[in-house]
Amino acid sequence: MISVNNRDFLFVPIADYLIPAEKVAHVQIGNYAEHALLVLTKTGYSAIPVLDSHNRLKGLLGIGMITDAILGLERIEYERLDNIKVDEIMQTDIPNVKTTDRFQKGLDLLINHPFLCVTDEDGIFAGILTRRVVLKQFKKYIYTTQ
Ligand code: AMP
Repeated sequence: MISVNNRDFLFVPIADYLIPAEKVAHVQIGNYAEHALLVLTKTGYSAIPVLDSHNRLKGLLGIGMITDAILGLERIEYERLDNIKVDEIMQTDIPNVKTTDRFQKGLDLLINHPFLCVTDEDGIFAGILTRRVVLKQFKKYIYTTQ
């Protein structure tokens, strides 16, 4: 990671701040909502990426999307969890962020998203950029530039 006593970090590629793909909990296209709910509950994350079998980023899945999909007229229909696939309910309109994009782009997008999914030039999932990482960077910047 770079020295942060100036604003250079804004121009550094997002790749330098990623939580790498191998450390990111995810589900795969074709997985059932029941499996996704288990992963989300056990990890405690509000949302996780959905990948295909070639590790290409396909969407994002959060607990709210699952509960919304099984919401019946009078009750939550848990028995439907093993009939619904994650790709039927995932969010697909997510920001397009590349490893080569600058930190500043991540900063702008993180105002409206708790984390960003980042891909390489071929669309292969590379990792995530989280608000936590960005805030830590800012904290360092603020405390070292008084
Ligand atoms: P944070 O900024 O660390 O609180 O993370 C914000 C969100 O990013 C979490 O609620 C998750 O949805 C996602 N996230 C963070 N770390 C991971 C991880 N290792 N695997 C999957 N999702 C993660």
